[in-house]
Amino acid sequence: MADATYTPAEYRAVVAGLVPEMPVVPTPLADCRGLVLAEDVVAPVSLPPFDNSAMDGYAVRAEDVATAPVSLPVADDIPAGRTDVRPLEPGTAHRIMTGAPLPPGADAVVQVELTDAGTGTVHITAPVPAGKHLRRVGEDVRAGTVVLRAGTVLGPPQLGLAAAVGAADLPVRRRPRVVVLSTGSELVEPGTPLEFGQIYESNSVLIAAAVRELGGLATVLRAVPDDVPAFRRVVADVDADVLVTSGGVSAGAYEVVKDALTDHGVRFVRVAIQPGGPQGSGTVDGLPVIAFPGNPVSAALSFELFLRPALLTAMGHPTPDRPRTRARVTTPLTSPSGKVQYRRAHLDSGRVQVVPVGGPASHLLASFAAANCLIEVPAATTAIPEGTEVDVVLLT
Ligand code: AMP
Ligand code: MG
Repeated sequence: MADATYTPAEYRAVVAGLVPEMPVVPTPLADCRGLVLAEDVVAPVSLPPFDNSAMDGYAVRAEDVATAPVSLPVADDIPAGRTDVRPLEPGTAHRIMTGAPLPPGADAVVQVELTDAGTGTVHITAPVPAGKHLRRVGEDVRAGTVVLRAGTVLGPPQLGLAAAVGAADLPVRRRPRVVVLSTGSELVEPGTPLEFGQIYESNSVLIAAAVRELGGLATVLRAVPDDVPAFRRVVADVDADVLVTSGGVSAGAYEVVKDALTDHGVRFVRVAIQPGGPQGSGTVDGLPVIAFPGNPVSAALSFELFLRPALLTAMGHPTPDRPRTRARVTTPLTSPSGKVQYRRAHLDSGRVQVVPVGGPASHLLASFAAANCLIEVPAATTAIPEGTEVDVVLLT
């Protein structure tokens, strides 16, 4: 019986269904970048927490400097960090630094540039209106209000804000632990000599980098040869949220992943895409296993189309999809009937023209490395004339 054939969208849903939602764990801010907040964050303090000076200068009562030029005795010195600030007596000034608490009774700050910077007495050259150079309590954030919503992807500004309201850690969905395993008796680790008939193993580093880029934790295992018992032994020892394999899933002989895991919880199917048609997925003794074809571009594209959105969704990302646009293709394209074709391409910075890079074949990794987008050719389309507007998936 022929293998089941899925559309890309159907198979994407199959993979998403295998990757469990990650649990919520309190995580130190330093490890939260790129993770997704699972609960609203309510500020326990206001920002600023107290009225303070926006300038280095002198805290005064505006009415005392209304007739400037004027000289006032300097009754106190308030650097940032002082916690025991005394009230300002009428007719005096306190020297004050940026961020230091405003003394009770003061209603303005004269910036140091409008003074002689005196420490015993200060000569003030110009008047200032009440409220000048003050930062008011709660002006930025009011205590008790939500500052970050559940579902927010935590980037540098959000993490800075969390720290500013005093959070040491945040409730986020934890990073998925992904184990990456390449198969193939021809594979040799980079950095070692290559004999005729062998190739350098490149899928694991690519997939692991892609996992880490979206915030996952990747562990790469040493590639296993096309040996079913050896492969099964490695799989049995894997402790992860997801195991990703590459190679050994298509229709030839020595298809180690297919031979080892058929009837052990993994279904091997065809997806109507080019490249990357043969795919496997399922659960082996409770371990979700996603089996990609071995050709480097097929493996990379499989990650992009199926596992990337599944991992992002498991991490709670509200939008697991890449941004898309439409642009005019600079050369004619052909595509097989009945398959969605993904062509490596380069989109110009104005997003007007898209230039195909290399052919559609799945071993052409250099053209993938030179691409910044994919052209998506619908299943029913077999020919695209030059200049046609096409769907573009942005990769960067
Ligand atoms: P397979 O899916 O095992 O039939 O492999 C398809 C093609 O991809 C073959 O030319 C393999 O040599 C190549 N290939 C498989 N795995 C890798 C890998 N990890 N790194 C680089 N090339 C690979
Ligand atoms: Mg192989």
